[in-house]
Amino acid sequence: MALKLIVTGGAGYVGSVCAARLIESGHEVVVVDDLSTGHADAVPDGARFVEGDAAEATASLLGEGFDGVLHFAAKSLVGESMTDPAKYWHGNVLTSIRLLDAMRDNGTPRLVFSSTAATYGEPESSPIRETAPTQPTNTYGASKLAIDHAITSYARAHGLAAVSLRYFNVAGAYGRYGERHTTETHLIPLVLQVASGDREQVQIFGDDYPTEDGTAVRDYIHVVDLADAHLLALQHAVAGEHRIYNLGNGTGFSVQQVIQTCRDVTGHPIPATLAPRRTGDPAVLVAASDRAREELGWKPERADLSGIVGDAWRFAQERRQG
Ligand code: UDP
Repeated sequence: MALKLIVTGGAGYVGSVCAARLIESGHEVVVVDDLSTGHADAVPDGARFVEGDAAEATASLLGEGFDGVLHFAAKSLVGESMTDPAKYWHGNVLTSIRLLDAMRDNGTPRLVFSSTAATYGEPESSPIRETAPTQPTNTYGASKLAIDHAITSYARAHGLAAVSLRYFNVAGAYGRYGERHTTETHLIPLVLQVASGDREQVQIFGDDYPTEDGTAVRDYIHVVDLADAHLLALQHAVAGEHRIYNLGNGTGFSVQQVIQTCRDVTGHPIPATLAPRRTGDPAVLVAASDRAREELGWKPERADLSGIVGDAWRFAQERRQG
């Protein structure tokens, strides 16, 4: 069934890929983005674009009658969330509550929300299930967790069909949609900047973690597999319920392994130097995504790390060539 949907943050990385996949599946998409971190030219072909605040602009559109909202718009820099917490409590939490109010007032039936593995903090066991304790170690994770709590209560009280997807480490690209943050903090794009010649070397944040090679381990998921989980979430959302799913491949790769994969894919030696640990970085973050597999019928199709890096590399090169 074709749905009429609002995608907040649809000019950003994950939002643009998801909006593109939604349009390809026959849905009608309006992208709302204030372009604070997104790019107007990343809004997918076929989407209507409204530039504005995720809550305000969405609130003024919802009266047109929409089947749902996919809410990607957010502040997402962990370090910044510790030095400027207000930006996260206002920009993430208050904006999302205003959005929930507008959905309640207009009777908008479905919400899919971009949550994060950062809601769990330092895990007590691995892989991480949805039942794991939520003890975020930074304000970014705390702000996303607060929104998840708000969604739970709005769903129960007002009959909203809601799904939160807790992303692990998203990477890769899809066609002309990919990762292009002005302030880049993520490992794979930073390593690829070295291969492109835009950066001299990559820093390895800590080599004394209790892991096989001493560097931190993460679960890297292809952005297209992630986007496709949103389409399934829309189909499986149940009125009055808020369901939460972890999304990852269930396999961890260390920082050293990621850098080596980037060397293999790009053919560049990619010099790496050792730097101190980044505050608040857990040693290992790997998802147990059995719940998404069982309840949504989700199955990652692009789990191979070389393929994920290969797609990110193709995207980076195409952007350099204009
Ligand atoms: N990392 C690193 N050097 C960098 C960027 C990241 O060693 O220049 C490490 C980081 O400490 C973490 C992993 O790479 O262990 C993934 O970091 P990223 O910022 O990509 O995602 P996060 O897991 O923090 O969400």
